[in-house]
Amino acid sequence: MNLVIIGPPGSGKGTQAERIAEHYQLKHFSTGDTFRAAMASNSELGNQLKIIIDKGGLVPDELVNEVIKDAIEKYEGEGLLFDGYPRTQAQAAFLQSILTVDGVISVSVSDEEVVKRISSRYFCPQCSKAYNTVTLPPKQAGKCDVDGARLQQRGDDKPEAVQQRLVEYHAKTEPIIRFYEKAGVKIHSISGEQPIDDVFEDIKQALG
Ligand SMILES: [Zn+2]
Repeated sequence: MNLVIIGPPGSGKGTQAERIAEHYQLKHFSTGDTFRAAMASNSELGNQLKIIIDKGGLVPDELVNEVIKDAIEKYEGEGLLFDGYPRTQAQAAFLQSILTVDGVISVSVSDEEVVKRISSRYFCPQCSKAYNTVTLPPKQAGKCDVDGARLQQRGDDKPEAVQQRLVEYHAKTEPIIRFYEKAGVKIHSISGEQPIDDVFEDIKQALG
């Protein structure tokens, strides 16, 4: 069984992906980990990737595809779970040309909830401890529990930036869903606006 999990930033899809991989014994391919492993391996593809990422550039579809293809080659015959890939319709079409995706899990969270979840994330610039003003607030507002440093927010996590990420997410993800629908791949729509355990229960029920 090969699955793809899709969800906006802050949807908790990474956590769900880990659980799904464990429960169904699938090899979990997160794009971030796959990229890091490729760069650490010093392979030619990894080096090409590193040059682009170090410059903060956008990795072209062809290179993303090659890196993924290279990474999954040694798992032929095993079930795979893709998390963060495919990110564009062209990537989805490429993946479909090298293996069969049996199902897509789409974890949905409203834009409003995504902005709320992400813009409540803060971190300590001194010790890197992560906070969340809703779910994991510091003892004293705006200060690190460990060293008292003033907490900061990543630029990417500020509400305007999150809105922009969501615009991009919708623009790219909706065509991917349509692509899979046309290809006859089952789309499992799961609400991400419930406790983590309940989201996972729904996923298990959907997958059977
Ligand atoms: Zn700290």
